Amino acid sequence: MPFSKLGLSPKVLEGVHASGYTDPTPIQLRAIPVVMSGRDLIGSAQTGTGKTAAFALPILSRLGQHGALRSLVLEPTRELAAQVETAIHDYGRFTNLRTAVLYGGTGYGRQNQALTQGADIIVATPGRLLDHMQRGTVRLNLIEMLVLDEADRMLDMGFLPDVRRIVERCRRPRQTMLFSATIPPEIEQLCKWALRDPETIEIGQRRAPAETVTHALYPVSSDQKQELLEELLRRTDYDQVLIFCRTKHGADRVARKLHREGHAVAVLHANRTQREREEALNGFRSGRYEVMVATDIAARGLDVEQISHVINFDVPHHPEDYVHRIGRTGRAQSVGDALTIFIGEDVPLVAAIERFIGQKIPRVKLDGFAYKFTRLLEDRPTPIFGGGRSRGRRSSRGRW
Ligand code: AMP
Repeated sequence: MPFSKLGLSPKVLEGVHASGYTDPTPIQLRAIPVVMSGRDLIGSAQTGTGKTAAFALPILSRLGQHGALRSLVLEPTRELAAQVETAIHDYGRFTNLRTAVLYGGTGYGRQNQALTQGADIIVATPGRLLDHMQRGTVRLNLIEMLVLDEADRMLDMGFLPDVRRIVERCRRPRQTMLFSATIPPEIEQLCKWALRDPETIEIGQRRAPAETVTHALYPVSSDQKQELLEELLRRTDYDQVLIFCRTKHGADRVARKLHREGHAVAVLHANRTQREREEALNGFRSGRYEVMVATDIAARGLDVEQISHVINFDVPHHPEDYVHRIGRTGRAQSVGDALTIFIGEDVPLVAAIERFIGQKIPRVKLDGFAYKFTRLLEDRPTPIFGGGRSRGRRSSRGRW
């Protein structure tokens, strides 16, 4: 079914076409009619499935003309808030609707200006929005469409009490949409409290990683992780690569060493200033940096088109984070590779990931790499791989 049959307004359809979208993605096909009908919605979908447009297009269509502040989108991180605001702005470029983005780590000047000029939609992180509410620069009494995006991450980050305070200030009745990759009990509670008779849309398996991604595990001894990473980068035919570390210090250390090796590296984690985070992300998006080293929280939900590879320098502690990390590659219709370096102590974490995603991930040993002994290498024979993949890029694995 084409976009034109989903009941969106002509101006929004123009925006969709100008964005280069020809067909709706599965979540868009199912969610847009629900949101257009005014019903509450719980959406659980794989990352990179076109979730933002699934709520943004019907919201823009239903708002129609510039007026009062009537829609609020809550996001867990500044980067996501900025990304979603940009998407909404793009989709609504042929309307006269206005969007403001509010997040912390930066001054109030520009945000106050956007609010004074009059916004129809606010995209915000919870903390900064509450600050604005306390200062009296934002009132939510006319909010008729509320989106709680990445709800499970807001839970992980301890934002649920803030989210509740915000939801309490939105008017009733209203339409509420909640998106979450997983629905743990706390989010189920929140749904019961904040939503009314919601329609639930689940696209694919809740736990499944993007289907376009191929996975591989690289066992190594702990003192050779960096060396193996550098070798992987040397042998991999990547466009852009995102490397995940468990800690901020770890990310800094890895980035420093890669920089010394001559890579153009950006770093993204919560200890960096807003300006540094923006510089890193913009530089990565524009291709100035070929490698970005990040922690989970900073990179959640980021959409960078050219990411061909995600490398887990550290195995994530939560299996959900594995799915989110690799959701950074293989977004929408493209393909990607997810490479995970692991050491002896990660074995239980790897097993948990494999259980969570419901598939065994192949172990790969690099030919010609001077491995020190690790039992992980003895436990399994080296698997043999063949074949490449689409889009003309050679599979990194096919060459080994
Ligand atoms: P999201 O899951 O909202 O972060 O979207 C992931 C990526 O898919 C973004 O780069 C969008 O621009 C892209 N996208 C969203 N909807 C479509 C569509 N219908 N056709 C092609 N690409 C899309």
